[in-house]
Amino acid sequence: MRNMLHGIVAVLFLSMALLSGQESDKLVRLESLDVSDNVYLLRGGGTNILAFIAEDGVVLIDTLGAGWGQATRRALDNLTSLPVTTIVNTHAHTGHSGGNGEFPLVTEIIAHEKTKARMREMSAFQDENVRLLPTKTFEEKLTLLEGFDRIELHYFGPAHTDGDILVVFPEKGIAYLGDLFGRMSLPRIDRDLGGSGLAYPLVLARALDEIKYFPAFVRGPEVRTFDRVVPGHVLPPDQTPLLRWLKWDDFKRYAELVAKAVEVVREAKARGQTEDQVIDLLKDSIAAEFPSYQLDAVGAFAEIVSLEIAEQ
Ligand SMILES: [Zn+2]
Repeated sequence: MRNMLHGIVAVLFLSMALLSGQESDKLVRLESLDVSDNVYLLRGGGTNILAFIAEDGVVLIDTLGAGWGQATRRALDNLTSLPVTTIVNTHAHTGHSGGNGEFPLVTEIIAHEKTKARMREMSAFQDENVRLLPTKTFEEKLTLLEGFDRIELHYFGPAHTDGDILVVFPEKGIAYLGDLFGRMSLPRIDRDLGGSGLAYPLVLARALDEIKYFPAFVRGPEVRTFDRVVPGHVLPPDQTPLLRWLKWDDFKRYAELVAKAVEVVREAKARGQTEDQVIDLLKDSIAAEFPSYQLDAVGAFAEIVSLEIAEQ
């Protein structure tokens, strides 16, 4: 596969669904993230996940939602007949964990301990479905596999939920950001699952500070500068993802956006401004300083941050 893909800028397989039943309309798009590596991006139903083809099985970084397992498998069949053996859940939302039970040879499901605690309370993981809960948890950092295959899981605190992790392939220059950086807009904060708008900028700052091997990293004798980040839901660019995919600098910029947004809300609330005024200020600030970001999540973000400030 490596030789076959060598020199091709972008690879796109479409796995067409021909099966009957409710999965028949589901299509998972599969893209190579780096033609010399075995990390792939899978996209279905508006969500991005990663698949890493290890020696003896596939590691999935998140699953798509419930009902997407067969379509995911059909996409993987373009690459390998190896079974999915390991799943990493970046957080508890079922859009990223609902497919945990749809890969029969999985031996390990890994998540942050707080994510497991949240999942344990969710209806999708009750009764016989307790077997779909993570089998292995960690607190701050966990490393999977070794050498060029190394995968690092990092936790920096509550943000989108209280258990979001970043998944880094340090030897490949790729990081999966899940819903910590989900879209080109302000983040969604799930307070019911322990998310926090006030803590969000701190979490992103810690991530940027502690994952120091990006963007330049050493692979064998080479210093490479691929520094691709994969957000949970941002639409992949058409064609040439290698050249146009989001970079670590885009993640830095996103961290600046979130920090700025919290600051704008904090200052406006300190001046006693109304919720509508806060939202208008926030929209103006983003439109002026971060024009590539959408404004759709501004209201919800302002509301939650205001609430957290009031609770302090
Ligand atoms: Zn989420």
